[in-house]
Amino acid sequence: MNEEIYDRYRQAGEIAKKARTQGLSLIKEKTLLLSVVTEIEDMILTAGAGIAFPVNISINHVAAHYSPHHADTTMFKKGDVVKLDVGAHVDGYIADTAETIEIGTTHYTPMITAVNKALDNAITEMRADISLTTIGKTVETTLNNLGYKPIENLTGHSLQKYELHAGLSVPNVADRFNRGKPQIDDVIAIEPFATNGAGRVISSEGSNIYLCTSSLSQKLVRDTHIRTIYQRFKKEFHSLPFAQRWAEKITSNSAFTLRKMTFLGLLKHYPQLIEANKGIVTQKEHTVIITEQGCEVIT
Ligand code: MN
Ligand code: MN
Repeated sequence: MNEEIYDRYRQAGEIAKKARTQGLSLIKEKTLLLSVVTEIEDMILTAGAGIAFPVNISINHVAAHYSPHHADTTMFKKGDVVKLDVGAHVDGYIADTAETIEIGTTHYTPMITAVNKALDNAITEMRADISLTTIGKTVETTLNNLGYKPIENLTGHSLQKYELHAGLSVPNVADRFNRGKPQIDDVIAIEPFATNGAGRVISSEGSNIYLCTSSLSQKLVRDTHIRTIYQRFKKEFHSLPFAQRWAEKITSNSAFTLRKMTFLGLLKHYPQLIEANKGIVTQKEHTVIITEQGCEVIT
């Protein structure tokens, strides 16, 4: 990797780390989710990075993919187990990181500690040419030994310029797929999830998170308003996920427009991913760069 790209990854990593750490300190009982995500996203922009995806706040049995909508009145509650997942990019070079906290209680401290340990063990092992299934096995064994299940259908992923899921997947179980092997300079997000539930997620309601598809069908869309808005989205958000909140600043009544665009196949709308047995879920995530010695954690 050339020095310039490496520096951008490190810068994105520093900013994402700061956004995660300071963001966690904002999460308190009776605070609006909306005010927390807005403040974190402002921090990322002020630090000179781009927002790689809307700040995700997933609570209790929601494992991933929720970001408040523009008029969301949901507040954090005592006892909530909160996953905060943030991403920053510098010129498209992305750092992705997440951490779990429990608000005001300590019932799930062992499950938080377990997932942190699983990530530590995976990072210790991560290096060029290791089978990613081996990493999955390490995560699974670590969590099982501590009394929890990994979420088998959520994975880590490689990252590339403006690309959040770039080909490689890092399983959280010793699955039977050939997951391939990372090479030096690969950038990889490792993200174990632990649960006391079924160990898999299912799709649920909408997340308020969208993505422009590279579909050609926009040419077939006769509605010029829709076409104009779509081009605006592509220009602002590239190929990265964006929030309904951000779309609302571009077009009022965005919920309706976004639904229509999703129906036309111009956008993908992510569902919330919830634990199949409504188990509690914890997560920890770091982005690493594969080096000669092993890997370097940038977040
Ligand atoms: Mn993430
Ligand atoms: Mn990730």
